[in-house]
Amino acid sequence: MPPLELIPLGGLGEFGMNMMLVACGETAILVDAGVMFPEPELLGVDLIIPDLRQLQQYRIQALVLTHGHEDHIGAVPHVLPYIDGPIYGTKLTLALVEPKLGELNGGEPGKAAKARLVEVRPRDRVQVGSFDIEFLRVTHSMPDCVAVAIYTPAGVVLHTGDFKFDQTPLDAQPVDVHRLAQLGTEGVLVLLGDSTNVERKGVSGSERDVEDGFEEVFTSARGRIVIAMFASSLYRMQIVVDLADQFDRRVAFVGRGVIENSEIAKRLGYLRIPPGVQIRDSDIREFPSQDVVCICTGSQGEPQAALPRIAIDDHRHAKLDQDDVVVFSAREIPGNEKAIGRVMNHIAKRGADIVYEGIKHVHVSGHGSEEELKLMLSLVRPRYFVPIHGEYRQLARHARIAKTVSPGTEVVLAENGDVIRIDGEGARVADKVPAGRILIDGTRSGEVGDEVLRDRRHLAGDGLVVPVVAISRQSGTLEETPDVITRGFVVDARTEALLKEIPSLVAAAIEAASVEERTDPGLIKEKIRVDLQRFFRKRSGLRPLVLPVVMEI
Ligand SMILES: [Zn+2]
Ligand SMILES: [Zn+2]
Repeated sequence: MPPLELIPLGGLGEFGMNMMLVACGETAILVDAGVMFPEPELLGVDLIIPDLRQLQQYRIQALVLTHGHEDHIGAVPHVLPYIDGPIYGTKLTLALVEPKLGELNGGEPGKAAKARLVEVRPRDRVQVGSFDIEFLRVTHSMPDCVAVAIYTPAGVVLHTGDFKFDQTPLDAQPVDVHRLAQLGTEGVLVLLGDSTNVERKGVSGSERDVEDGFEEVFTSARGRIVIAMFASSLYRMQIVVDLADQFDRRVAFVGRGVIENSEIAKRLGYLRIPPGVQIRDSDIREFPSQDVVCICTGSQGEPQAALPRIAIDDHRHAKLDQDDVVVFSAREIPGNEKAIGRVMNHIAKRGADIVYEGIKHVHVSGHGSEEELKLMLSLVRPRYFVPIHGEYRQLARHARIAKTVSPGTEVVLAENGDVIRIDGEGARVADKVPAGRILIDGTRSGEVGDEVLRDRRHLAGDGLVVPVVAISRQSGTLEETPDVITRGFVVDARTEALLKEIPSLVAAAIEAASVEERTDPGLIKEKIRVDLQRFFRKRSGLRPLVLPVVMEI
């Protein structure tokens, strides 16, 4: 048997940017190409993608996508140059990938790139080199998700993608349990299993489980209902749309992410909105507040998204009053607690009511909990098991659970960059290759005119500028003249003059902001960053990374 190599380039030992290289003999494929969203400290960095250097060592004949979440498809435009072949995905996944294809050349996706998208359906099989690849339906927090069975000369590799066992999926498309069991009987060499929710006991529950919680909100709300969710939560959108129809409210999508995704989902039939129910965000003011539901972005407190702007009364179309209710229908991503808490404070100051998981059941996880992970393991009964998608402690816990489910299964615990080799002598981490993070800046900031993409080379070229600002916690006024620190930023006569202007520019930006904006470090940092980047680009053509530091005094 030719040795099989599995090389995780992202998603093992961390959350997000999932990417797995599968190679055997002459054939190599990549499963998923995801991004990770930066911690708030990395302000100015919009995206993080895996280090892609290792991909050059292989002729990768296909990119296989499990589903349309950003942590699985966000890096597709970046890996495209390394893929010598098609991109396989389900209809919805590819529809979400398509607008990204032009991201790197700053425009419409090229014909050549589009032609590489190949749509597959569950139970389809495609041939790639010496691999045969089969797609199996799984359930998750969005429609059209698949697991991938890869038949290699060494044996079957089963990659679960993200999954849970939703027994009553909104689209009536359950997990293909039969095929999973069949594969288990036929023999699976390696199972790569989602570990995201391994620390939760029991089962995660169906997407439908939030229906009652939302119905209570609709029954009791006297004013507007504003619901923040991930832009990919299409099932959740459907539940809200159906309730709006039932309660005679109009639905408006507010924020770029939910507008774009709802349009794609509507076009493809994954989101059904009865005639007359949807209104445009710009028409919200035309309707009495008790007749409106807003579905918006910003559940994580992201300063550029809709809800944080609405919360400080700085949104063009939507505002909050007493009697309104704001629902946070998403999990708190670790690291975002402070930003979310600040948004909640702003909302409370407007007199609106706040509902979140813990008060009412308004969110359900898309990842299987312990009992579901056990079910997957006992259906598939793999010879080897590699936990994926999680931090190291979660992978380790998943490994222990696998042992209790089937003591005969051998577990390989690996991290990004580990080369897992499986051959006649068994399975082990045999080697280590370069892996890490690349910071990408500028692709999502709607406020910057010509959107820029910058990788490390660019950062090395134009350097880093850190304005340090001390602000009064109460009034939001400047306490001292802002300081500027630079690294790798070439200081000559011309740029030195630019740097001298920064303190007054920062002061002007702060002065132009409202008190609420000034006293919210997340919001004011974003404002300073956008202003200074525009300043450097206009005046010098330079694009340094700007990372404001705001101290509250
Ligand atoms: Zn997912
Ligand atoms: Zn994921």
